[in-house]
Amino acid sequence: MLEGMIKEVLIDEKQLKDRIKEMGKNITNHYNEDDEIVMVCILRGGFIFMADLVRQVELPVSCDFMDVTSYEGGTTSTGNVRIIKDLEESIEDKHVLIVEDIIDTGLTLKHVINMLKTRKPKSIKVCTLLDKPERRTEKEVEADWNGFEIPNEFVIGYGLDYDEKYRNIPYIFIPEPELYEG
Ligand code: 5GP
Ligand code: MG
Ligand code: MG
Repeated sequence: MLEGMIKEVLIDEKQLKDRIKEMGKNITNHYNEDDEIVMVCILRGGFIFMADLVRQVELPVSCDFMDVTSYEGGTTSTGNVRIIKDLEESIEDKHVLIVEDIIDTGLTLKHVINMLKTRKPKSIKVCTLLDKPERRTEKEVEADWNGFEIPNEFVIGYGLDYDEKYRNIPYIFIPEPELYEG
């Protein structure tokens, strides 16, 4: 399916598995058994990571899902996000753990955090699989748990898409330009 389209496999399946296991342990150790925790997956990119991560967290968490999109203001993103699908549960007085695929500029996360804060959760923490620190414009946006710092390259796989495809590829890769042309 991807012959000649992969420039480099950046993170393979074994690396993902091992790192996510560690992250699950760290998250488990951070909270208490009787904390009310909601893991909030940011769709769609976060769904594969969420599924693997939640199985490495040894706490009675609930899972909820939110889909957001950036408003495009002319040629550049304004960074305002609109909710396409909101959470099903109230997060008031609960510990919220946001699960993201990648923090790039940080704009999406900044707006999601600000929206969720108004709902009076007990705490908000962020867990991201990938982080592109070079691209960050929102300097105050940081993850509490971060799987991998990556260079400023467009990556695909393990939940991350190109044109809504390839989210199902089980590893993370940098594509050859042919992928965009084909
Ligand atoms: P932000 O710039 O707001 O931090 O990131 C917004 C969204 O852009 C991310 O949640 C992710 O869905 C998408 N994105 C950012 N960098 C990449 C990338 O390298 N590959 C893919 N497939 N999506 C990305
Ligand atoms: Mg995302
Ligand atoms: Mg995308």
